[in-house]
Amino acid sequence: MRTIIFIFLSAFLFQTPTIETDKDRWKPYYVDTAPAKIAEKWFLPFEGGDRKNVKNIKIISIFGDHRDSFLKGHIHTAIDVNPAKPKDKLVSVYAMANGVVCSIHLTENQRTVVVKHKLTNGTIMFTTYKHLKEVYVNSGQQVTEHTKLARLFTPAESKKYGGDYHHLHLEIRKKFDDYGCASWLTMNKNQLNERYYNPQIFIKEYVK
Ligand SMILES: [Zn+2]
Repeated sequence: MRTIIFIFLSAFLFQTPTIETDKDRWKPYYVDTAPAKIAEKWFLPFEGGDRKNVKNIKIISIFGDHRDSFLKGHIHTAIDVNPAKPKDKLVSVYAMANGVVCSIHLTENQRTVVVKHKLTNGTIMFTTYKHLKEVYVNSGQQVTEHTKLARLFTPAESKKYGGDYHHLHLEIRKKFDDYGCASWLTMNKNQLNERYYNPQIFIKEYVK
């Protein structure tokens, strides 16, 4: 009997998290505010040079890549980017378009800001900025492309966390029904396509 209870408890306690079982943990960080302005014009998230010229970002890791961090085998839901020619030692991150900050979640090396946008055709979508060292906005705050959301880790600061965090993990989302956990719990292409745009394709289409 004791063995059976142990097996049952183990299965319960060590269950692999899924988007469905994990999302409620992240819901308290979500603020349901409507964007005040339409996201008509889109820009790259870094200053320095033309924020319309895609050559001003350097892509380190692509959308859909296989990942073994956190949950082994999850899929990369973003592109990892840096400015091609950083203007300063401290790299600032800007909102890509008009919108409202709807979630600031996680801590330390994973700190994340999410901005909700309304497109010209009425579609609601989201941009997510992850691996932020300092955040300068608050939940519920309306933003434009001129709003400095945060700054990235420097290579030296990244080293202190024993990892490679001195880049922006940039997601372009169709949905935020997972309140953020799909960023590390997306395990297959269906889940990926359900919630995410390929940022490279989105940028090509909107940042021009
Ligand atoms: Zn990433």
